[in-house]
Amino acid sequence: MLFKNANAITGRGIVKTDVLVKDGKIARIEKGLFCENTVDLGGNYLAPGFVDIHGHGGYGYDYMDNTAEAFENILRFQSDNGITSAVASTVTAPIEIIEKTIETARLAMKKKGDRARLLGVHLEGPYLSVKNRGAHAEAYLRVPENDDHGYILDNADVVKNVTVSPELAGAAELTEKLVGKGITVSLGHDDAILPEILPVVKAGATNLTHIYCAMSGVVMKDNKRYVGLREYGLIDDNLTAEVIADNHHMTPELVKMVYKCKGAERTCLVSDCLRAGGMKRDGRLYSLGKEGDENPQKFKVADGVAVLEDGSRYAGSIQPISQMLKNIVFDAGIPLAEAIKTVSSTPAKIVKADDKIGSIEVGKLADFCVLDKDLNVLNTVIEGKIIKKKEIKQ
Ligand SMILES: [Zn+2]
Repeated sequence: MLFKNANAITGRGIVKTDVLVKDGKIARIEKGLFCENTVDLGGNYLAPGFVDIHGHGGYGYDYMDNTAEAFENILRFQSDNGITSAVASTVTAPIEIIEKTIETARLAMKKKGDRARLLGVHLEGPYLSVKNRGAHAEAYLRVPENDDHGYILDNADVVKNVTVSPELAGAAELTEKLVGKGITVSLGHDDAILPEILPVVKAGATNLTHIYCAMSGVVMKDNKRYVGLREYGLIDDNLTAEVIADNHHMTPELVKMVYKCKGAERTCLVSDCLRAGGMKRDGRLYSLGKEGDENPQKFKVADGVAVLEDGSRYAGSIQPISQMLKNIVFDAGIPLAEAIKTVSSTPAKIVKADDKIGSIEVGKLADFCVLDKDLNVLNTVIEGKIIKKKEIKQ
């Protein structure tokens, strides 16, 4: 198949070109190509398919509902919004439930369909600080030193990323074990000061779970001033930073600051989207994590963001990556070709999938997102196949 008259957004900028796809991969990128099966893009943008490495749900489902139906619907919500590859995020829960989610994910990873590809799982919890647990249930938080981690290490084919709070006992040892298995370690939901952060970075942590959200910052302790993860994260070039760019968790000014420090190569937009993503705003209460849990955290949707039932804090976002891309281009003023890296090549690199996805280059999978000049998603293309959007039932 040939995608003709594209404004292709490549690592080297925006180029007017044609893109030829063969066997699901990008075969040629040049002007004046011919193929019987041609789609004329009429000058619309051909961006790499978006990669969302931190999302919890959509279309009313959460990955932790633990059903094939939930996974299929969430991945469809993702592809309807231009995402071609996704990582499923868990929330803090009993280990048996996390293990079940890993199993459900393993099955979904093997399946292909008219929806985003599942790359694996991101464990958000149980190794989080009590203070900055955010919407995670305190009763299920754990300390790395007290666990054998077998449920993660034995599932390294599925688990791609684990969030760890660096000040917890055993955090550096756990980090070393996970990194040894090829799993990315992301720091966040923490209450750490610099002397606690450095050993975990040395042990191999490379990413920050949603910078500025549920993250330590500069404090006075024993008459001494210490920086926290927010400040250290901005200055260490070995660390990438996830950004929930929904204009609520992160205002355009905060996005600009992170971008100024980290650049597009180290800034990664994440949806952190909950089950309310893609649903009508009708004031109803949703559960965080598994539906039907005995003691779930409840949240509601308020003015473009999810908040806990009592309104005391944000529970997560309800915006897909495609809306966040608009926010950082139109509100934070980040140039489009750079902004695209934060939703494609950078997230792909963080979960070590950049050999196959994340940019428009010959040999990579033909995953694209077709955008108009206002950055509305017109089409999602996975391995050269145009994915039909779901009829939204509301
Ligand atoms: Zn999350």
